[in-house]
Amino acid sequence: MNETLTITFWGVRGSYPAPGGHTVRYGGNTACVEVNAGGRLLILDAGTGIIPLGRDLMRRSQQTGKPVQATLLFSHLHHDHTQGFPFFAPAYHPVSRLFLFGPGASEQALEELLARNQMPPAFPVSLRDMNAAKEIRSLNETDVLCFEAETPCISKQPTGELFIRLMKSYAHPGGVYVYRIEWRGLSVVYATDTEGYIGTDRRLAAFARHADLLIHDAQYSEDHYQGRNGWTSTQGYGHSTPRMACELAQAAGVKQLALFHHDPNYDDARIQQIEHEAQQIFPQVFAARERLQVTLSPDTAMASPFTEMDKAAFLRTANRF
Ligand SMILES: [Zn+2]
Ligand SMILES: [Zn+2]
Repeated sequence: MNETLTITFWGVRGSYPAPGGHTVRYGGNTACVEVNAGGRLLILDAGTGIIPLGRDLMRRSQQTGKPVQATLLFSHLHHDHTQGFPFFAPAYHPVSRLFLFGPGASEQALEELLARNQMPPAFPVSLRDMNAAKEIRSLNETDVLCFEAETPCISKQPTGELFIRLMKSYAHPGGVYVYRIEWRGLSVVYATDTEGYIGTDRRLAAFARHADLLIHDAQYSEDHYQGRNGWTSTQGYGHSTPRMACELAQAAGVKQLALFHHDPNYDDARIQQIEHEAQQIFPQVFAARERLQVTLSPDTAMASPFTEMDKAAFLRTANRF
């Protein structure tokens, strides 16, 4: 049994992919985060980052001889959070077992929306023709996902050592689910595609209270958000500035903050600059980048959530300014 809570970023970009030489450090894939909780595989969103994750899961499966079993949580159904799923290799393997959860007005709504996303002529392979065993269900705000059995179950009360609660946020067009994953007293909150409020989003701050890691939308620089220096204002688009993310992290008293959902127009230098500016507001902040792995364990959570290799990389980045 794996005794850590490990978070790996596979896609950190918002809106649309941003490949190219100017984004190699932080990466160009859209939203996808892998969470490994004591050996259980959770995946947050299925932007294009899920494509390299899928390849890696197939490699791991070949090494261990165990089929892929994963629980995939959608924050919402905007393209940058779903567009990688039709290319997720484990979904084509009959031995894979996938549990998909996300928003939807009825229990079947998520399945209908995902099916519509890849219906011919938009995509040649329908959701039904992807061979993996799939269970797809929409969640209500009051639902709690529990993992006491081999498969996840929907409950109204948290039970067992791993459970996931959600909060429906209205700070994004169409609404978005924020997830809080708890494992053995450690917690990760995934709050992408959310716009901050003046005086912070108090409901979200309460939901994220004392999390070990908060992954928060920080798409727009202050100038961009406010429409200065040639940018068109993005106020009301449903995304935050790094300052909003930092203020939320402070209000919630979280231990670490990951800036997430970087604007596709931003190159590595700009994101580094944003990261540096954010560190002046909330020192325990870093800009999420592809393949960055953060490991939390009951013993080391307070001391260092980074693996040594990542911590060194993080410090190198911080020291550059
Ligand atoms: Zn998005
Ligand atoms: Zn969105």
